[in-house]
Amino acid sequence: MSNEISIAIVGGGVVGCAVAWELSRHYDGIFVFEKNPGITQGENQSSRNSGVIHSGIYYDQKTRPLKAELCVKGNRFLYDFCDRHEVPALKTGKLMVATNGYEDNVLDIYLERARQNRVPGVKKISGAKVKKLEPNVKAISALFVPTAGIVEPTTLTYRLYTLASGEGVQFMTATEVTGIEPEDDLLRLTIRYRDGHEDQVRTGVVINSGGVDADLLARLFNPDSPFELDPVRGESYKFYGHKRPELEVRGMNIYPTPQSVVTPYGQHFTVGVHLTPAFEDISFPPSLGTTVTIGPKLIPVEDRQARAGKPVEANVFSEKIRSFFPDIKDEDLIWHQAGLQARLKDNPDFIIEADADNPHFINLLGIDSPGLTACLSIARRVKEIIVTSNE
Ligand SMILES: Cc1cc2nc3c(=O)[nH]c(=O)nc-3n(C[C@H](O)[C@H](O)[C@H](O)COP(=O)(O)OP(=O)(O)OC[C@H]3O[C@@H](n4cnc5c(N)ncnc54)[C@H](O)[C@@H]3O)c2cc1C
Repeated sequence: MSNEISIAIVGGGVVGCAVAWELSRHYDGIFVFEKNPGITQGENQSSRNSGVIHSGIYYDQKTRPLKAELCVKGNRFLYDFCDRHEVPALKTGKLMVATNGYEDNVLDIYLERARQNRVPGVKKISGAKVKKLEPNVKAISALFVPTAGIVEPTTLTYRLYTLASGEGVQFMTATEVTGIEPEDDLLRLTIRYRDGHEDQVRTGVVINSGGVDADLLARLFNPDSPFELDPVRGESYKFYGHKRPELEVRGMNIYPTPQSVVTPYGQHFTVGVHLTPAFEDISFPPSLGTTVTIGPKLIPVEDRQARAGKPVEANVFSEKIRSFFPDIKDEDLIWHQAGLQARLKDNPDFIIEADADNPHFINLLGIDSPGLTACLSIARRVKEIIVTSNE
């Protein structure tokens, strides 16, 4: 490896790979440093998520304007990308269901938010219509959200990686960035290979796409960086729809009405434990199988390096969905997966901006959900920041 490069991307998850592909069409000399042994090999967020293509109805303009904008744009970009590059994705649509009068009123908040965020096609439908669309789902009303869907996240990440590699991006796997310092007009990275050997490389730009460790990287460069992550573990179970007729799901994402919680940034509604249909396999064009995942249930973690933990019992999941999916039994559920989300401590939005003291160090912080949906729009935002700082 030459010891002077143009752009270093730290982190080869779906966002790092999307940024690499976007920038590769405009710049040479791009390197991605990933501490996992391979792209898509490891326990990062990109390999442990629910695979939902969000529509953008959750994010209010006051506390999460960037998520609102980048999710709605990213949703569009992602369907188009998956179609062109043969990544399994399906616009399944989604139902956000209400099971009582209070929840029915909350749906109206989201209907209005869909309008504000310009999410196309969202409408409120009756319980009878819900029954027609998904006979095993019980609801008095629902929001029908046609642009929500599902994508196969590992294939997506891998496709972005192969496209970027084809454009000349070098992926350095099993390579951890352990130091970042300014040096003249450049930035000096210290990298550690798997065998413990260290090397140094000078670069014009660093993009911090380190997922749940992005705040550590931000502070490695600038000890005064104010951002801190408070990662949460998202656990999920699954069941097989072919097991009993009452478990069949025709293929929509089924979400509860968000529940109100109080957070450090005020009152907030959680997305809630939901049902997501899974693909039959990873072939293209894609088709749905009969597996349905349930989750994620979010659990605070004290030690982000200790990613594993005692799995949450199945009955917690069945209780969460029983109000709208009444025939589920604990014994139907099989543990599926757990993944840490890069949630920011005091800010519910994405942060995508240059370090306060150095325009050549660009932070991507708090890239939790809907980061998978928004990976391509996040990548375009990063390119805009680089273009603007070069003007
Ligand atoms: C349980 C769960 C469910 C989710 N569901 C959805 C969903 O349905 N829809 C949706 O849109 N989003 C969802 N998300 C969010 C989505 O998965 C993430 O926003 C997205 O994967 C973030 O990608 P990333 O590349 O930023 O981070 P990651 O995938 O976490 O990648 C970061 C990479 O940086 C590497 N790294 C860190 N530090 C260093 C270093 N010092 N040197 C080298 N490499 C380093 C790590 O090894 C890692 O591979 C979910 C997330 C979770 C955990």
